[in-house]
Amino acid sequence: MKPNEGYEPVIGLEVHAHLRTSSKAFCSCSTKFGDEPNTNVCPVCAGLPGALPVLNISLVEFALRMGLAANSTISPRSTFARKNYFYPDLPKGYQISQYEQPICTGGFVEIDLEDGGRKKIRLTRIHMEEDAGKSIHDVGAETLVDLNRCGVPLIEIVSEPDLRSPKENMEEGSLRCDANVSVRKKGEAGLGTKTELKNMNSFRHVERALEFEIDRQIRVLEEGGSLEQETLLWDANRNIASSMRSKEGAHDYRYFPDPDLVPVHVDEPWISRVRAGLPEHPTARRDRFINVHHLPKYDAEVLTSEKGYADYFEAVVKILGPANPDGAKSASNWVMTEVLRVVGEEKLDIAKFPISPARIASMIRLINDGTISSKIAKDLFAEMLHSDADPKAIVEKKGMVQLSDESAIRKVVDEVVERNEAQVKKYRAGNANVFGFFVGEVMKATRGKANPAIVNKVLKKKLDAGGSK
Ligand code: ADP
Ligand code: ZN
Ligand code: MG
Repeated sequence: MKPNEGYEPVIGLEVHAHLRTSSKAFCSCSTKFGDEPNTNVCPVCAGLPGALPVLNISLVEFALRMGLAANSTISPRSTFARKNYFYPDLPKGYQISQYEQPICTGGFVEIDLEDGGRKKIRLTRIHMEEDAGKSIHDVGAETLVDLNRCGVPLIEIVSEPDLRSPKENMEEGSLRCDANVSVRKKGEAGLGTKTELKNMNSFRHVERALEFEIDRQIRVLEEGGSLEQETLLWDANRNIASSMRSKEGAHDYRYFPDPDLVPVHVDEPWISRVRAGLPEHPTARRDRFINVHHLPKYDAEVLTSEKGYADYFEAVVKILGPANPDGAKSASNWVMTEVLRVVGEEKLDIAKFPISPARIASMIRLINDGTISSKIAKDLFAEMLHSDADPKAIVEKKGMVQLSDESAIRKVVDEVVERNEAQVKKYRAGNANVFGFFVGEVMKATRGKANPAIVNKVLKKKLDAGGSK
């Protein structure tokens, strides 16, 4: 048995997510990313003495949305605290955060497991805080400081140590994440000494850093050593984590209530209003796509990976209406393949996709009623990308209509069979593969317009009739 197999990792995450407010948490400076350094700065976020913070209500709204989406308990009263530490890009010498009374406690998020099951990861808390500025180290000998990010609102989501594998990562987004990890012998109930991993900016990195650290901890324990609570920095270039500092305790930060900010009171009507404005939860929407639209799980996952994709898909289905029993699957096929291909290639926002859901629906109707084949539809789709015209009008103008007249197709089939005696012999001698050759010839002769189902039927009848014409 490899030494790792006797152990079980225990992981808890602290996830920081930027909120899409237009102004900062406690002043009216812009949160815009990528502006000239130190242009979005005022006395408040630059930490000048005497400047007073004023809470941005959007920050509270976003935190409430997250809390309600994660089934958390909303605190009727929450307070801000100062978390004191020195850093050149933290001009106040403290970060405004929440400590004793965070805005949300408890709750859970659900994750998908590799075996297809789902697992609830309990949340400890969600709190509001502000970001620090940015130190830029790689410019010559100096370190430069950009304060644009100072005061940009964040929420921190802290999970219980419920994860049991580096693969059990939480959903992706615009976020930074610290991972806390310990190991214990399988079957043990108590928790081992944890270390905290920082500086991972992608989920791939979180996974790799955790794998590295789990191996290291097990090795230390196997060799009879003991672990120390510490903070480790992940080095993505070297694929190692090295000690940054021994872990500071909460007391090191000298947390105390921020005297400049009044407590936040959230009443029931406010909560109800935020709840009513929440979009359908992506997991619930995915389940609905599977159960109500009867989509395969894969389709439902792709379509609900972005709200815009799901909205677009559902708009198509709605327009197709109940008269199209397979409407959802056809809509899904077109959105997942052609629409998302173009969206990806051209980096488009699907809400601004040049073909509206209504026009995709019209195109699908033309396929379903036999006017065009799926093959022609691909050409039509390409035309529609550059033309606002109604799909039906394009089909008529470009002569894209599918040939479904059986007697006309039979004529073409007769000609093709007559022209290719050698292939006919092969087919009748039992070489079924030659059938594809005939289909190809008929398609060529009709410039791709023949209805494939009818071609197949007529051809089969003709060839299997054994010599009779
Ligand atoms: P700290 O005081 O070091 O910040 P917390 O108790 O606040 O520790 O927990 C921080 C994070 O560490 C949480 O996500 C929590 O789930 C996780 N955690 C706590 N104890 C352990 C442990 N023994 N092993 C793994 N993760 C843990
Ligand atoms: Zn400011
Ligand atoms: Mg903590």
